[in-house]
Amino acid sequence: MEAGQLLEITEQGNRFLSQIEGETGINLGACYQCERCTNSCPVAEFMDIKPHQVIRFVQLGQRSRLLGSRTIWVCLSCEMCSAHCPNEVGVAEVIIHLRNLAARSPYPAHEKELEIFYRKFMGELTRFGRINEIWLMTSMNMSPGILIKKVKDGSFLPELKLGLELVKRGRLHFWPKKSKAAKELRRLQEKLKGR
Ligand code: SF4
Ligand code: SF4
Repeated sequence: MEAGQLLEITEQGNRFLSQIEGETGINLGACYQCERCTNSCPVAEFMDIKPHQVIRFVQLGQRSRLLGSRTIWVCLSCEMCSAHCPNEVGVAEVIIHLRNLAARSPYPAHEKELEIFYRKFMGELTRFGRINEIWLMTSMNMSPGILIKKVKDGSFLPELKLGLELVKRGRLHFWPKKSKAAKELRRLQEKLKGR
């Protein structure tokens, strides 16, 4: 590789690192790759880029690998990684931020169903300011391919029965309640679109 190309890659990497640090307010230089975040993650085995590697890849400016990864969709946002980091690096926050960037980017999502769920979840949240499970699952099931897949793999009927049972017990409600937070969430979303 020529020196000019190497310099360009390094500059791109630095720009991505500065962008993520600036947008999250997290000092990623504090990470010394001890791997405690990965060891505390309950779903690390399902990730193609482990939590400590996510931080390293951001430091190296690996934007496309991160936004196209399975990891950002598999992460449960449980924050175990952040809680276990000896240097207070917000690993979970970085992953959530990368997921938000991926949702606004043209990268095809590795985990299509999780991506659809995320989009529907955010859609319902900004619409009502809170989640109504019936509306969320209905909207999810109406997405192309989802209902057919569930009917085929036999998961639709048990899910429907469970939903009806929860309605009967008063745990689920048909009509969503609107929260004042909806307006603020919409405002924040518009602000993010402008970035
Ligand atoms: S626990 Fe913290 S310092 Fe250790 S690898 Fe993870 S982010 Fe880096
Ligand atoms: S927030 Fe994500 S990366 Fe961190 S421990 Fe939970 S699942 Fe793993």
